[in-house]
Amino acid sequence: MKCPFCGHLDDRVVDSRESREGDAIRRRRECARCERRFTSYERIDEIPYMVVKKDGTRERFDRQKLIAGMLKACEKRPVSVAVLESVANRVEAALHERPEKELSAEAVGALVMDELKTLDKVAYVRFASVYRDFRDIGEFMEELKGLLDGQEDKEGNVRAAPRSSGPGE
Ligand SMILES: [Zn+2]
Repeated sequence: MKCPFCGHLDDRVVDSRESREGDAIRRRRECARCERRFTSYERIDEIPYMVVKKDGTRERFDRQKLIAGMLKACEKRPVSVAVLESVANRVEAALHERPEKELSAEAVGALVMDELKTLDKVAYVRFASVYRDFRDIGEFMEELKGLLDGQEDKEGNVRAAPRSSGPGE
């Protein structure tokens, strides 16, 4: 997004509580050069975020579907919808950062799993069991074991799972 003050093309989104006004998304941004803040409005139907599935086909990124999936994983868990909304915002932001405006379904799943892992272990395992393509039950058990081992460590010292390289890395 072009900075209205200095014309620089690089910025970051500073307000994660992006508000929806009608069918537009309002984002507060900060210019990477002059650091002044401005607001952008993007029409949702003009942002064709795409998710690339395993077989190479693409489908539109469906925010509601993503939130519904997370809600299911967080059923009866102490995670608020507002928190899940902000996770969805960050997934959208990751898509937005991609020049091609698309991510693999796997990468989207990995982003969400990273977030859920820090939010709620049970929700993470539920989500992972659906989204992650564990080759066999042994692989899944290894992941669970890793999580449980991590929990025995001090808070914040949870064993990090191998991260898939996300956008901008
Ligand atoms: Zn600027």
